[in-house]
Amino acid sequence: MYRCPVCGYDRLRKPAKEFAICPSCGTEFGYSDSGPDPISEIHEHLRANWIKNGAKWQSSVVSSPPYWNPWEQMLKAHLALSLPDIERAKMTEILNIVNSDFGFREPNKSFVFRAPNGNFVGELTIA
Ligand SMILES: [Zn+2]
Repeated sequence: MYRCPVCGYDRLRKPAKEFAICPSCGTEFGYSDSGPDPISEIHEHLRANWIKNGAKWQSSVVSSPPYWNPWEQMLKAHLALSLPDIERAKMTEILNIVNSDFGFREPNKSFVFRAPNGNFVGELTIA
């Protein structure tokens, strides 16, 4: 199994290249992420767009894992911690999504993530 560098999904059947498609974020590697910019920047933009559109499961062919949660997936892949590197406007949108759907805001600007059943998933502190 391989991990998607865009969304952190860790059950890719093929490496993230040569037109493999991530069922979680929909990135088609070698196509969606081609361009003149450094690959890490392209992936960051794809991630930001995916989040901006609600971080929804993209594949209609491959089902999402049980209790799938995009924020948990990003936390596990250490991608959520790179969120402060994204521009402020995108950051605000991300935090709005996090606040409204998946967590609650603590006074010290850390976010607690809970699964739909209430179980603790993880915590993200914004510096
Ligand atoms: Zn992905």
